[in-house]
Amino acid sequence: MIDLNNLTIVSARAKLDAKEFSAVELAQAYLDEIKKKNGELNAYLEIYDDVLEQAKLADDRISKGESLPLLGVPLAIKDVILIKGRKVSAASKILENYVAPYDATVITKLKKQGAVFLGRTNTDEFAMGGSTENSAYGVTKNPHDTKRVAGGSSGGSVVAVAANLALGALGSDTGGSVREPASFCGIVGMKPTYGRVSRYGLIAMGSSLDCIGPVAKNAEDTQIIYDAICGQDVLDGTTINDQTYLKPILKKVIGVPWDLVNGKGVDIKVKENFKQSMENLEKLGFAVKDISLKNLDMALAIYYIIMPAEASTNLSRFDGVRYGMHKDGKNLLEDYLLTKGAGFGKEVRRRILLGTYVLSAGYYDAYYGKAVIARDLLKKEFARVFNEIDVIATPTAPFVAWKIGEKSDPLSVYLADIFTVTANIVGVPAISVPSGFTEVEGKKLPLGVQFMAPHGAEDALFEVGGKLNMV
Ligand code: GLN
Repeated sequence: MIDLNNLTIVSARAKLDAKEFSAVELAQAYLDEIKKKNGELNAYLEIYDDVLEQAKLADDRISKGESLPLLGVPLAIKDVILIKGRKVSAASKILENYVAPYDATVITKLKKQGAVFLGRTNTDEFAMGGSTENSAYGVTKNPHDTKRVAGGSSGGSVVAVAANLALGALGSDTGGSVREPASFCGIVGMKPTYGRVSRYGLIAMGSSLDCIGPVAKNAEDTQIIYDAICGQDVLDGTTINDQTYLKPILKKVIGVPWDLVNGKGVDIKVKENFKQSMENLEKLGFAVKDISLKNLDMALAIYYIIMPAEASTNLSRFDGVRYGMHKDGKNLLEDYLLTKGAGFGKEVRRRILLGTYVLSAGYYDAYYGKAVIARDLLKKEFARVFNEIDVIATPTAPFVAWKIGEKSDPLSVYLADIFTVTANIVGVPAISVPSGFTEVEGKKLPLGVQFMAPHGAEDALFEVGGKLNMV
């Protein structure tokens, strides 16, 4: 029996190399666990039927002496990332039986390493949400309390890792979708610098915000997946040359926007846990400094204008002609109405409407134009504070995972993103690291701390995040 609970990517690699178990045995152990738990948790929408064949190929490479960090390592992939010849639906009815015609660049890279893909994971439809309740294929449950949400939108990938249904995973993060569920489920999730990981083959939500990000049990494993997927890509013109950034030299100073952290929407238990985490870092030799970022409280407003504007533009391609579902009407307009009406869920329709509105003639300058200016201000402010500190720390989310169905008003779910959207708006990397538990109604629910670093300073995140991770 392989002890999946204590297995990490690093230890699995060592055991595979030492022939303590084979990649086939490891994959089988995960398949058995998935069989036991996925019915209830709904982390995976599909388990691939060739997992053992993939693992066998990895074993062949291991037996020839190859030892790449992810060779034979079983991973879960969010249902918005294309794997050639396999279904990808963005958890939407409109793409229910859509088959990917090519590999995303991140997949090409993982295949080269010999990673084993277990299956595709649940998400809010088109990654729009913070709880995975917006999936067209049922909600994903939190393994710490199955009455509660896993967070989202990458809830399926995060639960797969948190419940030992995969050793690591890929998610996508447009406003916090890797970090918020990671915090709700007690594992690590990371959003790279915009442009450091190729978006080629990622189903787009907000193209200036979208990032593919790794999910794993600890900071070290997360870095291994990040290292495997990053790099400039000719297929994505927004990717950047890795030489652009130098390895950061740490000043050992952490900045905290206390005004925002102490704000009234933040749960008292979250505040206490966060303060404790900062004290722990001080004991490890970091100075914690109050920073004022006066435009930080505009971040949510900026995000909920720019994101729907870009999402509505991106989703116009799902017209019932080029991809996925098609419903026949009497004319082209009726085809559109029938297809989109049947194919898109409520939240997706809300965002298409919002986005179309903020981009429409007459409102463009008042909303979209202003949001773009405010985004620029925030970027400048971040550049200023990063002169004096290594990372900015905040709680990852203002509250713990809520009960399934509890938040019926979409605005209250949007508030969950208060700390996470800023990194996407500014384009900087950010990580969520587990910071302990709080007891709610007899269950221990995880909490997380988020760190944001300057553009290209992922190393600082792994360094500081890794320290807190070990406390
Ligand atoms: N919760 C945020 C939203 O609903 C973030 C989504 C994401 O990062 N994909 O927009």
